[in-house]
Amino acid sequence: MHGIAYWIEKRARITPTRIAVIANDQSLTYQQMNEQIQRLANYLRHELQVKKGDRIGILSQNSLEYVLLLFAIAKLGAIAVPFNIRLTPAELDYQFEDSGIRVLCAQPEFAATIELIKGKASVEHMIWLEPGELPWNQTSQQGRTEADDGSGDDPYIICYTSGTTGKPKGAVLTQENMFWNSVHNVAALDLTSEDCSIVLLPLFHIGGIGLFAFPTWLAGGRVVVAGKFEPDKAIQLIEAHQVTIVMGVPAIHEAIRQSPLFATTPFDSVRWFYNGGAPCPMELIQQFQERGLPFGQGYGLTETSPTVFMISKEDTERKAGSIGKPVMFCEVRLISDDGKDVDQGEIGELLVKGPNVMKEYWNRPEETAKTIRDGWLYTGDLARFDEEGFAYIVGRRKDMIISGGENIYPLELEQVISELDGVQEAAVVGVPDEKWGEVAKAFIVPKSGAVITEAYIKAHCEQRLAKYKIPKSFVFLTELPRNATGKIVKQALTRLKIDSITQ
Ligand code: ATP
Repeated sequence: MHGIAYWIEKRARITPTRIAVIANDQSLTYQQMNEQIQRLANYLRHELQVKKGDRIGILSQNSLEYVLLLFAIAKLGAIAVPFNIRLTPAELDYQFEDSGIRVLCAQPEFAATIELIKGKASVEHMIWLEPGELPWNQTSQQGRTEADDGSGDDPYIICYTSGTTGKPKGAVLTQENMFWNSVHNVAALDLTSEDCSIVLLPLFHIGGIGLFAFPTWLAGGRVVVAGKFEPDKAIQLIEAHQVTIVMGVPAIHEAIRQSPLFATTPFDSVRWFYNGGAPCPMELIQQFQERGLPFGQGYGLTETSPTVFMISKEDTERKAGSIGKPVMFCEVRLISDDGKDVDQGEIGELLVKGPNVMKEYWNRPEETAKTIRDGWLYTGDLARFDEEGFAYIVGRRKDMIISGGENIYPLELEQVISELDGVQEAAVVGVPDEKWGEVAKAFIVPKSGAVITEAYIKAHCEQRLAKYKIPKSFVFLTELPRNATGKIVKQALTRLKIDSITQ
């Protein structure tokens, strides 16, 4: 199978003058993009002797250079290692050492961070991503790259998971994985060369790459790569470039909704706002839908490149809150603790099989064997299907609370508590209890200026939840602990000492 750089090469022949990418205040046609990828690949191959399998780290905000690197690396059969720019030097230490990068490409603004990273012994070459001074534009270019075009099973990206549930693991995704993820999304969204998607998620997450930049390029459309996320700027870009597909996580959609431009912008060109990556509050979905804006959900994870589920356009309102149905070539199962398939309507752990499932975890054969068994990827997420086959995520397996033999799903409690006026957000964890084994404990962040009491929340819970589910204790905080990706770290809440509590 051809590697992914072939898509741009081929498009450069079929529709050379069409716009492929808009970034750094410039736009490139498919022909120009292909020439730049070729130039960069030549530089990496001939000046830095990059060969198949070499790891190339990237520490950068979203930019045109980022995109060009991803394709040039694919052309050479090398492996991209995108690093999360919000990590501390100590956190990066681990990922640098683990991946063993030979080349590091970084924006100058990260120079001080890089100084502090100890695990960079393997780095032989440093490339500063400074527009105007890019080294591949400074050298003379002779001859074509004998592109390996790292096809098929070759590892292509080592993408570290967010580490919400432990130390980040490097999911090894192949070019083929990325191809199939693109096919799935092209099919699920009916993407065509008329589409224009905008990248608001960071490219160091699989969501930034796979949703929906790569699928849009496969379809021959345009991709707007926004730099650092700013809601007003994002809205202006959507309007200026007549974007049709907007992908985000709840925090991005919430920021767009809160922007003063939200109410006055028509968003006429947008045919999809898509959410994934974390549970999306119903209120947020409804606020978009009430404005007549199509808002749907999907579900995925780093290990599946990422898309597994996607809701179809005709179902977004009728089934708001559902993540939809599995995409074209993905098979899924829900199993109980004893490994048997659950009955329809029951909750079980979600297993995934498909051509988009990662090859392995980098340097972690035991973790790989635990996660992929008989070709099924164990996601650790709990889900259920309704009678029409629509899926709902109910939480994470390790977050589930077993209280007196009954299962409690924190997400359900969090959603109920968040319905209340005056509650900004809530997180629920299980804590040991002598009588019940475990009970629920709620951490609540009040909206600024709101005065809410335990009795008020309890009374609401009593109306909406069975008695065994109602949290036995409530703690008020000014914010919830989050990791660099913005996800809530439940382990930190479980460990939280009482003296850091604001009540
Ligand atoms: P780690 O695996 O290191 O703990 P992580 O699981 O947060 O980190 P990601 O791959 O970034 O790593 O996120 C995938 C997870 O995000 C899924 O397993 C799921 O729990 C959650 N998720 C994704 N989409 C949705 C959605 N639409 N609704 C609810 N949860 C979602």
